[in-house]
Amino acid sequence: MKRKGTLPSLIRIGSVRIAVLRKSLTRTIRGKRVRVAGLFFDAGKRLEITVDPKCADDLVQSTFFHELVHAALYLSSTKELLNDKTEENVCDAVANALNDLIADGHLTLHARKDAAWKSRTR
Ligand SMILES: [Zn+2]
Repeated sequence: MKRKGTLPSLIRIGSVRIAVLRKSLTRTIRGKRVRVAGLFFDAGKRLEITVDPKCADDLVQSTFFHELVHAALYLSSTKELLNDKTEENVCDAVANALNDLIADGHLTLHARKDAAWKSRTR
């Protein structure tokens, strides 16, 4: 499976649309600039999931799932019930479960072309 090519550029959780960007990014963690594989971010006017396309294929997919769970926790306000470490563990656990489903052939991903996706939504 060409995992990098199957990431959508726009997804929806409930009525909220989230842009999916592919770019390298860094974050300041404990005063140091470090490269990160992915990030979920409320950019004000829109929500964004960013995945570093330079990661290995399997890491791109698992990073996308990890950030997707961050988005779902944020949008459901479940994030407010979790401390940072617990939230990260939940994101990893769900991402790993989805990766295993795909690896075992129980689930497949097919990214629609954006035009087709938009035409099916309001
Ligand atoms: Zn995370």
